[in-house]
Amino acid sequence: MLIAGNWKMFKGPDEAGAFCRALRDADLPDDVDVVVCPPYVSLEAAVQTLAGTEVGVFAQNCHWELEGAFTGEISAPMLHELGVYGTLVGHSERRQWFGETDETVAQRVRTALAQGLHVIACVGESEAEREAGETDAVLRRQVGVLEADENLVIAYEPVWAIGTGKTATPEMAQQAHETIKSVLDLPVLYGGSVKPDNAAELMSQPAVDGALVGGASLDVESFAAICRAASL
Ligand code: PEP
Repeated sequence: MLIAGNWKMFKGPDEAGAFCRALRDADLPDDVDVVVCPPYVSLEAAVQTLAGTEVGVFAQNCHWELEGAFTGEISAPMLHELGVYGTLVGHSERRQWFGETDETVAQRVRTALAQGLHVIACVGESEAEREAGETDAVLRRQVGVLEADENLVIAYEPVWAIGTGKTATPEMAQQAHETIKSVLDLPVLYGGSVKPDNAAELMSQPAVDGALVGGASLDVESFAAICRAASL
C-alpha cells in the first residue's frame, strides 16, 4: 500500500518543516509506503526534515525537458539535486487550469522516469463524462498514452470527487481500477475525498493499492490515521 499526501498550494517552507517534524514523530505503520507532495518552494524543507526516515518526498509536477526556456517550470534534474524522490504528473487541477493534455502528461511522465524519479500519474473522468457513460473510455484513453514502468504508479481520481466531499463508492473505485489495470498492469491509488473514516473501506477493495489524499493530508493526525487505515 502507498499513501501519498498532495498538499497542492498549501504550506510554505516553515509550515512544511513543522508538518514533517510532526510526521516524523507520528505513529505510521511499517507496511505502508508514505509520501508527501509539497509545493516546489517547500521541497527542500521537507527533504531535509524527513532525511533518514522512510517517508518519501515528491514534487507536484515536472517538465519534459531537462532545461530550457520554459518560464515557471521545474525539471527532473533540478528535483534530483534537491533530493526529491518522485513527482505527481497529470493531476486533474493541472489538466483543468493549466492546459495539461494526455500528450503533455505522457511526455512529463516519460522524462521523469528516464531521469530516475518515481511517478504517480493521475487520471480520472469528469462528472459529465461519468454521466454520459464514458468513464471506461476516458480512462483507457488517459492510461493508453503511458507505458508500464516499475517506478510508475497510477492514481485514479474521479474529478467530481476531488475536494468535493463526494467519494466514489468502493465498487466504483474497484471497477475503474480494474479498467486501468487491464490497460497497464500497475499499482493504482484511489484519490477523491479520502478521509480517515472512509479510507479502510476503499482500500479493502482488491484492485485499490493505496490512496492519493488532498485535503485530509494537510493535517498530520488525519494523514497518519489514513496511513494506519491502509495497514493490513
Ligand atoms: C487530490 O488533490 O489529489 C485529492 C484527491 O484531493 P481531496 O482528497 O481533497 O479530494
